[in-house]
Formats: sequence, C-alpha cells, structure tokens
Amino acid sequence: MMEGMDATGTEKIASPATDSQRSEKLKARLEQLLREAAEVEVELSRADGSIQGVPHYSVIEGRAHALGKQLSREVQQRQMSELAASQSLTAKCPACGARCRLESAAREVNSVDGRTELQELAGYCPRCRRAFFPDA
Ligand SMILES: [Zn+2]
Repeated sequence: MMEGMDATGTEKIASPATDSQRSEKLKARLEQLLREAAEVEVELSRADGSIQGVPHYSVIEGRAHALGKQLSREVQQRQMSELAASQSLTAKCPACGARCRLESAAREVNSVDGRTELQELAGYCPRCRRAFFPDA
C-alpha cells in the first residue's frame, strides 16, 4: 500500500502538523549536510593546493561559488529524474495520436549553473517514425 493512502485507496489529507515537522527535520538535516560540505571543501582546497597562505578573497569566493553551482546541477538532475519516474510510461504521439511507449533518455542542457545532463522521458512513434517529448 502506498504511503498516505488508507485501506479504501483514497488519499488521506496529510495533517499540516506532520508536514511541518517533516519539513523542519529535513531543513535541519540539509543545514547539517551543507555545513559538512563546506568543511570538506575547505579541507580539500588546502589539500589540493588551490588555496594557499592568504589568498585574494576572489579566489575563495570563486571556489565557493563553483561548489554552489555543482550542488545546483545535482539538485536539477534529481528533480528531473524524480519527475521522469513519476510520469506515465506511455503518451500519445503529437502527430497521429497513437499511444507510444516512453523511455528515459539523457539530455545535455545548459543550465544557469553550467552544463548538466538531465533524465527525461522521450517517445518514439513507429507509425510516424519520429521521436517526441511528451508534455510533463
Ligand atoms: Zn505518430
């Protein structure tokens, strides 16, 4: 049985108290992980020699920002993978309307935080011999 469903299969309305508790827990965990990531990043920058002695502040800022962009790309990838996993595995061909199977495909995109590879569902219509991307 799926979480949030009762025995009759209807969706239960999640209590706001439970959701805010969960949010608070997740926020605290995320803050902890970010602090740890910052700690490891500082240690790494010393170990690999990219930060030595008393560097110009722009060097510190540049490396910190690169890590932020890396995290952003990671989140974008996860969000798109979850979205692809939650979508229906068939869609109508936009040209002829035939039901077609969808498969997960990787696509390179230029995000505001750099080039990244996202997973999305793509269909191929054997009748029209064309590939298409279904509406999310
Ligand atoms: Zn078609």
